[in-house]
Amino acid sequence: MATRSKAPEDLNLNNIVERQFDKAAKHVKLPSGLLHQIKVCNNVYYMQFPVKIDDRYVIFEAWRAEHSHHRKPLKGGIRYSRMVDQHEIMALAALMTYKCAIGNVPFGGSKGGIKLRPRDYTPEQLQKITRRYTAELIAKNFIGPGINVPAPDYGTGEREMAWIADTYDAFHPGGIDNWACVTGKPLTQGGIRGRREATGRGVVFGLREVFRDPVTLKKTGLKGTLAGKKVAIQGFGNVGYHVAKILHEEDGCKIVAVGEYDGAAYNPNGLDIEKLSEWFKHKGTIKGFKGATKTLANGRDVLELDCDIIVPAALENQITRENAAKVKARIVAEAANGPTTTDAENILNKKNVLLLSDIYLNSGGVTVSYFEWAKNISHMRYGLLQKRADAHQRAQIVAATEEIVRARFPDSIRRGLLKGVDEEDLVRSGLEETMATGYNEISEVMKKNKRVEDFRTAAFICAIEKVGRAYLELGVFP
Ligand code: NAD
Repeated sequence: MATRSKAPEDLNLNNIVERQFDKAAKHVKLPSGLLHQIKVCNNVYYMQFPVKIDDRYVIFEAWRAEHSHHRKPLKGGIRYSRMVDQHEIMALAALMTYKCAIGNVPFGGSKGGIKLRPRDYTPEQLQKITRRYTAELIAKNFIGPGINVPAPDYGTGEREMAWIADTYDAFHPGGIDNWACVTGKPLTQGGIRGRREATGRGVVFGLREVFRDPVTLKKTGLKGTLAGKKVAIQGFGNVGYHVAKILHEEDGCKIVAVGEYDGAAYNPNGLDIEKLSEWFKHKGTIKGFKGATKTLANGRDVLELDCDIIVPAALENQITRENAAKVKARIVAEAANGPTTTDAENILNKKNVLLLSDIYLNSGGVTVSYFEWAKNISHMRYGLLQKRADAHQRAQIVAATEEIVRARFPDSIRRGLLKGVDEEDLVRSGLEETMATGYNEISEVMKKNKRVEDFRTAAFICAIEKVGRAYLELGVFP
């Protein structure tokens, strides 16, 4: 008798996020109408617009979803990918709401995207497309410093954000807060020091918290510190590159593999991240890198390697029921949004693999975007007022200490002690504080409720409770 084949796995990110929400919502005491309101996407703007590419007009499909208006403005990245569709954008917008809540960033969640592969267009063409998309958002009031503030995501970066800011500025002459209409801008155009690396650095801060938490670390079976831990990274873009670089340079991890769209570089003794980055930038491929002992055919293969931590930092649905059982790492650090399907998560939870979920772990980007937005509306660089005062005070302490001990600090230490705090120091400090607070709040939920077994559910509980409180404060659900 023929056996009935198993139903195909549900890869719809919106369904996956809704299931994650439902699992957590069971533990939250809020009116059911309010829970429903928190879960649904408030509105989606779908557009199709023409842009002249060479000698023909191409019609582009694009979206901007606004998941929740409980706080304003709304915030979320803009993605350029051939795989973009409405469900994906809605799901990513929902993740933004929960991420902002966990990081205590006072924004609602949003997300946008254009269905295109950046590699298929010249920079001039991408500029035309981006400016037209921005004009569409302006026309429907889907962008503005107090309304909705985009940021970079997969396939976009500082360059695209500068085009968006410039277009918005041209449509709003004299608008004093115009630069706050988008974050992730270049430094020269209202950006902030530390935004480029923020998501990657936030991922590292999150991992450091795990290694400071003996109870959670014990469950993973890992010991000691991050130093010497073997890490494999999938996706070597903005997020993946910075995670690799910081883990290697500051924490002493061995980055044994980096996977890209067309293959992976592997070296059991650790890859030289800067050299690999140079190679990737110049060749446009990870293949053929001399510092690798082996090239793997598929970028996704790195997720099955023998290592301690895997960092999916590319796209969603990378760990599925097909490969979850083959994961050997003890920690999955979700730098990407939605990299793990529901089936895969169940398999990994049974194996006691720690899944550091996206809504906590990759919230560093939106946290520093919040700092950038606040800087833009305050029209003042962080550290400007206190840097010198701080440096003078430090000089006095150093001089007094040297007098008491009758010895001079070595020059390298002296320089560090005398340096006043600047914008980058403050941004890092704010990010570290946010990631540490988020981790502690999620841990508290797990401690208080023994029935909550996994980190993601605890993170969702944390987020839902905060969004719920905000709605109740607004008096929307008395
Ligand atoms: P990016 O475009 O800078 O880099 C993504 C990289 O992944 C590219 O180099 C691409 O070639 C590679 N890639 C594509 N398909 C792959 C595959 N099958 N296997 C391996 N590599 C593949 O994008 P990013 O900004 O680094 O974003 C990556 C992920 O992080 C996305 O899920 C995004 O939503 C999430 N994220 C980004 C930010 C941010 O600030 N940029 C913030 C939060 C979350």
